[in-house]
Amino acid sequence: NSKPKIVVLGAGYAGMMTTKKLMQQLQPEEADIVLVNKHNYHYQTTWLHEVAAGTINHNQARIMIRDIIDPNRVRLIYDSVVRVNRDDQRVVLENSEIDYDYLVVSLGFETNTFGIKGMDENAFFIQDIDSCQLIREHIEYQFAQYKNSEAKEDHNLTILVGGGGFTGVEFVGELAEKVPQLCKKYDIDPNVPKIINVEASPSILPGFDTDLVAYAKTSLQERGVELREGTKIQACTEEGFIVGEGNELIKAGTVVWTGGVTGNSVLADSGFELTKGKVTVNSDLRAPGEENIFILGDCAWVMNKKEDRPYPPTAQAAMQHATTCANNLKALLHHQPLEQFVFSDKGTVASLGVTDAMGTIFEGTKLYGKPAAAMKKVVDNRYLFLLGGLNLFLKKGKVRPF
Ligand code: FAD
Repeated sequence: NSKPKIVVLGAGYAGMMTTKKLMQQLQPEEADIVLVNKHNYHYQTTWLHEVAAGTINHNQARIMIRDIIDPNRVRLIYDSVVRVNRDDQRVVLENSEIDYDYLVVSLGFETNTFGIKGMDENAFFIQDIDSCQLIREHIEYQFAQYKNSEAKEDHNLTILVGGGGFTGVEFVGELAEKVPQLCKKYDIDPNVPKIINVEASPSILPGFDTDLVAYAKTSLQERGVELREGTKIQACTEEGFIVGEGNELIKAGTVVWTGGVTGNSVLADSGFELTKGKVTVNSDLRAPGEENIFILGDCAWVMNKKEDRPYPPTAQAAMQHATTCANNLKALLHHQPLEQFVFSDKGTVASLGVTDAMGTIFEGTKLYGKPAAAMKKVVDNRYLFLLGGLNLFLKKGKVRPF
């Protein structure tokens, strides 16, 4: 078989969209396409906080890969990538190996605990569907256990969230919806459970517009979320966080760390040159010095040349990377010049619960409350349309009434 082989690693936003576009743009005789992913499903990473809080069912957040990618056109391998051997153009998987002519690395993020003592051992992470189901079940177990125990320890109903960035804030916003429901379900006084967010910076959502941050704070606090800003986590123990100069212990029955992410560790294990865990790619999205390897999504730093710093890692960017990558793979096959990636910022909206959100759209227009929540759902549903058309939207779309 003399056809070139394109291997895509990871079926997240970047990997799925790249594969889909390759399927559309290349004739079967032009190249073989292989997609490797840990699971037989793709999941919406941007909905994971909802899965973890239990405000949506995990099945709504996942999509069978073969429902989107034609297995007759693309070879689907469900296995974990261990590392890439660039010298002999092979990818080592847990259960086999595969060679490539062109490689796309789109394996997403991994949680980073920045070496905070005890965090890896004692905290839950919002990492994937499985880790989020564990969080959901653990929280519910705490409520059931509390109801059934003689000596009630109120702190067991405290949910402690480390990190007040985008994910941490979206997660506590969902918890503020879920906890009252759990109180009803288990007949528990709603004043007992606590939701506490701990952030080391002077304010939650560092880097966000101050009006939006103020809105988010009021919304969360009014719904009972306690914000501990300017509070450094010294360590995480089985009991909770140890914080601040005075080593105060905040006890909790559930501890979740959302304070940091980095690129997938496969990058380091494959010997790529890394900056803070990710590869700084060329403007055509190839790894420096590599003719045939593209690195996309949360595994890549793509430089914003105007501001001389990388763009933030987002699903929005990952999908745009996919378009450029698919075009550039086609160009490589046809010995044509490659295009440069240009990011088109459509804005960012953070949800604060089922009917509340805030963010910016269209170059800085600020949105709050229900219109922002509606916009967030439009963004979510738009992705489903792009990926799987009307069918996928009808199956998995967010059409919750306000
Ligand atoms: P991912 O979508 O994470 O996909 C990686 C894929 O690789 C997964 O399918 C995974 O199973 C697979 N994989 C990982 N390791 C291996 C392995 N070793 N072998 C095989 N397969 C593997 N961005 C926005 O633009 N807007 C938002 O509102 C937003 N909200 C967010 C909310 C939360 C709670 C989180 C966590 C993130 C949010 N983001 C948001 C960021 C966004 O989700 C990421 O930037 C995006 O998922 C990156 O896409 P990706 O394709 O690089 O990786």
